[in-house]
Amino acid sequence: MKEQRNGLLLVISGPSGVGKGTLVNALMERNQKIKMSVSATTRAPRPGEIEGVHYFFKTEEEFKAMVDRGEFLEYIHVFGSKYYGTPRSFVEQQLENGYDVILEIDVQGAMKVKQAFPDAVLMFITAPSMSEIKSRLIGRGTETMEQVEKRFATAFEEIKMIPQYDYVIINDVVDVAVHHMEAILEAERCRTSRSNYLSESIEDTGR
Ligand code: ADP
Ligand code: 5GP
Repeated sequence: MKEQRNGLLLVISGPSGVGKGTLVNALMERNQKIKMSVSATTRAPRPGEIEGVHYFFKTEEEFKAMVDRGEFLEYIHVFGSKYYGTPRSFVEQQLENGYDVILEIDVQGAMKVKQAFPDAVLMFITAPSMSEIKSRLIGRGTETMEQVEKRFATAFEEIKMIPQYDYVIINDVVDVAVHHMEAILEAERCRTSRSNYLSESIEDTGR
């Protein structure tokens, strides 16, 4: 008998600069049973980014070898040249151990995960306006103006995918947005479809 539920797989997407990282950090500070999946990428580290914490930074050769070994749950090739992928084993292990796992991935990756894990909860993060997304992206100061323009153009394609998501969160005030994320997680954990382990344990007690 399995005495605890499997963890919940939470997929978070949204345009670059909308505040996904900010919200996820705040959510994890307040919820110890949530684990963040660390992706692999071929993009260069930003100042302050730490290997194994923010990403596993790989050369293109290393990344492709991981693809060949089937080590990714999903991966994509974006912004013209960079690869990003979700290592499979960490996610599967944590879910099995009852931890909720967050994947912060792009819309294409999210659709692949939805197919492979129909139980996953998909949240799309957006901002009060497109101009606010652009000013946050510029304000973060981590991309060149050329990269900002590329990412901002992609944002218009990404928001078209909102109907494919289970929930949409407008990140206006950080605390309010995090509260909405927590409320969604609480409700999702109570779904009857995630409670099979309960009937199994009741049967085991002989009642
Ligand atoms: P993403 O992970 O989606 O690319 P970040 O979390 O890096 O975005 O946020 C981009 C910038 O916007 C950062 O400088 C962050 O401090 C800022 N930011 C995030 N949320 C808000 C908010 N609700 N209001 C104003 N600025 C925000
Ligand atoms: P950034 O370069 O700003 O860290 O991330 C750029 C984009 O790549 C974001 O939309 C982010 O969600 C996405 N991303 C990061 N890791 C992964 C991943 O493992 N898979 C997919 N599909 N997208 C990812």
